[in-house]
Amino acid sequence: MVKLGKKIDFKKIFSILEKTHHPTMLEILKEYTPFQLLVATLLSARTKDSRLIPIVQKLFQEYPHPEDFIKIPLPVLEQKLYTVGFYRMKAKNVKKLSQIVVEKYHGQIPNTFSELTSLPGVGRKTANCILACVFHQAAIGVDTHVHRISNRLGWVKTKSPEETEEELKKLVPQVFWVKVNNLLVDHGQRICQPLKPRCGECSIREYCVFGKSLVH
Ligand code: SF4
Repeated sequence: MVKLGKKIDFKKIFSILEKTHHPTMLEILKEYTPFQLLVATLLSARTKDSRLIPIVQKLFQEYPHPEDFIKIPLPVLEQKLYTVGFYRMKAKNVKKLSQIVVEKYHGQIPNTFSELTSLPGVGRKTANCILACVFHQAAIGVDTHVHRISNRLGWVKTKSPEETEEELKKLVPQVFWVKVNNLLVDHGQRICQPLKPRCGECSIREYCVFGKSLVH
């Protein structure tokens, strides 16, 4: 629940984070096609970017188009994704998704939230990340990093990423929505880590409720 009248200097906070920002997976792969970015995002759940990026780069070299994924036998795709978390389920979803993209969308991925989330394995976070990063639409992709950090910063007080997304949409000016995921995911991977946030090294500590509450 966001308190009425809460004044947060998002412009300042995001500009500080931008100064030390390291590109996230979607930024590193930004030259890839929308279909490839959708597949990479789907595969990224519960898998570190550093592990996933070389895997998808190699995969898309061999199989660049949805038509190629339809043709790969499932056990072959599973074997290629073996080190990715939940690889069996994800391989199945990538194949089904490719089939739908080819049959229903002529090989192009759709650009609406409802169509994206109707695809196998594509949840709110993935759909919102694709809408923001690929189609440049106002959307906030909320994963565990964005959810955790938004709560630590004191922006929201929520129990789930879905609730956080709802509250952030009320709180963050729309012009900043597309930045939220990339900036907070990188911050969460390197500084505001789940178990041990490195508040002593954090560039936005003075804006953080949790960071300021710690004894110096
Ligand atoms: S001060 Fe600590 S808790 Fe707050 S954003 Fe920085 S690392 Fe995270």
